[in-house]
Amino acid sequence: MTRDVVIAGASFAGLAVARELPDRALLLDPVDVGEGQTSACGAPLGVLAALGALGSVQQVHEHLVIHTPDREVRWPVPEPFCTFEYRACCRAALAGSGAPVVRAAARGHRRTVALTSAGDVPARVLVDCTGWRAALAGGASEAPRPGSHPAPRGRPILYFGLEADVPAPFAPGLHFYFWPDVAPDGYAWAFPAGRTTRVGLLSYRARSRLGPALAAFLDRLGMPSGPLHGGFLRGGLHPPVVDGVFTVGDAAGQCLPLSGEGIRSAVLAGQVCGRLIGRALDGRLTLEDARARYSAFVRAQRRRYRVLRWATVAVLTLPARALGALAACVARPGVLRTFMSHYLGMFAPKPGWE
Ligand SMILES: Cc1cc2nc3c(=O)[nH]c(=O)nc-3n(C[C@H](O)[C@H](O)[C@H](O)COP(=O)(O)OP(=O)(O)OC[C@H]3O[C@@H](n4cnc5c(N)ncnc54)[C@H](O)[C@@H]3O)c2cc1C
Repeated sequence: MTRDVVIAGASFAGLAVARELPDRALLLDPVDVGEGQTSACGAPLGVLAALGALGSVQQVHEHLVIHTPDREVRWPVPEPFCTFEYRACCRAALAGSGAPVVRAAARGHRRTVALTSAGDVPARVLVDCTGWRAALAGGASEAPRPGSHPAPRGRPILYFGLEADVPAPFAPGLHFYFWPDVAPDGYAWAFPAGRTTRVGLLSYRARSRLGPALAAFLDRLGMPSGPLHGGFLRGGLHPPVVDGVFTVGDAAGQCLPLSGEGIRSAVLAGQVCGRLIGRALDGRLTLEDARARYSAFVRAQRRRYRVLRWATVAVLTLPARALGALAACVARPGVLRTFMSHYLGMFAPKPGWE
């Protein structure tokens, strides 16, 4: 089977690209769409609307709740966030795209031919949405290893997250815990999702042995454990076009520093990438123009991205009391508005960008 566009990876980034290319895209993934969840699935409600997946929403959240050892601070969010069911979200997004899925793993490419476990798949355009491994473009051949933050220029930002799907509800809001004894190089979270709660730990230094610390955290919250999942998150804004292949989402290092939020950036960048490819296939742009415009869109995120990188350094170095005072200061309406508009402005295309 062939199509104009072959997209490797059928999760947030791949599905967002495919939805912009009706009847033109083919998805490759070694697992069934909606299986293999790694994420806590917390995102702005608008992202679910963009994926045509509002039906997968489990709970809507109007607040982020920041916990430090001596404080609990609530940050109202300017647009509602939600927790959603991964499988239902991916399946709804796929249904709206009409794209066929071939169950195969991308292993690399030769010009515009995708090399896969099921043989060669030719196309006019290739898009790598395979997550942190960047398996199609071959951009992330480096083995994950724990490292210091911030990563040196040009080096990837690699975080690691582990979470439990706990069969118990929790107080409303998306809860972030900056408790150094629980998460000395990151944070812990509790995201209620209806009758269940996703409770996890993130290491900014990509430490992957988080099991005992997660068990201790669950104990402290008085919650039972549940099935575990997790994985690496890749940031650092890597080249969005590698050897002619478009890269989107974690494959392009688009996961955000500080929060480790990567669903919104993957979907927004995927939409931009898909629309530009569509215009090129319609003959309204050359493919080279589409690549250049997509690269410029990603480049435009760099300044805001850098601010978040340095905010992560602050979290890693400030004493817990100072962090609590800072969280309280950011909660003031004017400061919060500025912070949120900076944060939520990332990857949001400017009006008229097309
Ligand atoms: C524990 C944890 C919790 C998180 N919580 C949140 C959260 O609440 N909110 C948020 O915004 N972000 C969260 N993130 C980050 C977020 O999950 C990622 O940034 C996001 O999933 C990136 O989307 P993606 O589509 O680029 O990649 P992925 O979601 O990783 O999808 C990659 C897809 O590619 C497929 N694939 C892999 N290899 C190949 C191959 N060789 N060929 C073809 N296909 C392949 C995979 O099967 C998968 O379908 C979390 C991450 C972790 C680890």
